[in-house]
Amino acid sequence: MKFTVLGSGSSGNAILISNDKTNVLIDAGLSATQVLKRLSLVGVDYEKIDAVLITHEHTDHAGGLRVLLQTLRCPVFISELTLEAYFNIQNSKESERRRETLKNRVIKIETGSHFCIGQIDFYPFSIPHDAVDNFGFVAESKGVRIASLMDFGYITNSIKQNLKGCDGIIIESNHSLDMLKACSLYSWTLKQRIMSKTGHLSNEDLCKWLKEDFDGNASHIVLAHLSQRANEPNLALLMAQEALLSKNHLSRIDTKIIVSHPHQPTEWIQF
Ligand SMILES: [Zn+2]
Ligand SMILES: [Zn+2]
Repeated sequence: MKFTVLGSGSSGNAILISNDKTNVLIDAGLSATQVLKRLSLVGVDYEKIDAVLITHEHTDHAGGLRVLLQTLRCPVFISELTLEAYFNIQNSKESERRRETLKNRVIKIETGSHFCIGQIDFYPFSIPHDAVDNFGFVAESKGVRIASLMDFGYITNSIKQNLKGCDGIIIESNHSLDMLKACSLYSWTLKQRIMSKTGHLSNEDLCKWLKEDFDGNASHIVLAHLSQRANEPNLALLMAQEALLSKNHLSRIDTKIIVSHPHQPTEWIQF
């Protein structure tokens, strides 16, 4: 089992999770051209993609889907509510194109209900965000567990439970609270939306989870969905590394923290 974050940030998100036989693309928020380019960069033939799994309808997670489906032949795993929200947009022409493209290609999933894609098991769970039905999930194959969760305002008890025992974790570290408050490009309303319980997770909240609730099991944690205006990759990394250190100065934790990028894939993280 392995994964790479093909690209992540406010401008677009896509992750690839693979084992020997199955390749699943998580979200299609990058342009179709970029998804295809990055698949080739990480050495995966686009014809070998078995499914696209869409976590929620926001453009930075689903905006590249329709055009991508002109090249990919695989089905789309998506929840009923998210699918409706993906169709119901103001631009009626685009809405029609979306309905047409996804006709007979959808496999409906339910947040909270297990499903399989090829040889990978998925366990989705609800996370608090201002989308109709956003979820994080644990993907499991041969005893290896990879969790992915982006776009959520705070760490719920269910999230804490789901992250226990995972071998790899992709998790949002969206903004530095100070940088967000100081950011002159964002309106106060937008800042409030980002900081709300259904907005995005701050570096500070991620660090609190690392210190208080992370069980030390994961060998790799990838920081994802970093704001390009209210965060700095090095700052997010340092804060997370410090949180790990301060948590366990007596016994060593070997967890490696990696920052994902908007414009290039991470290395493959393999288990
Ligand atoms: Zn997002
Ligand atoms: Zn979102």
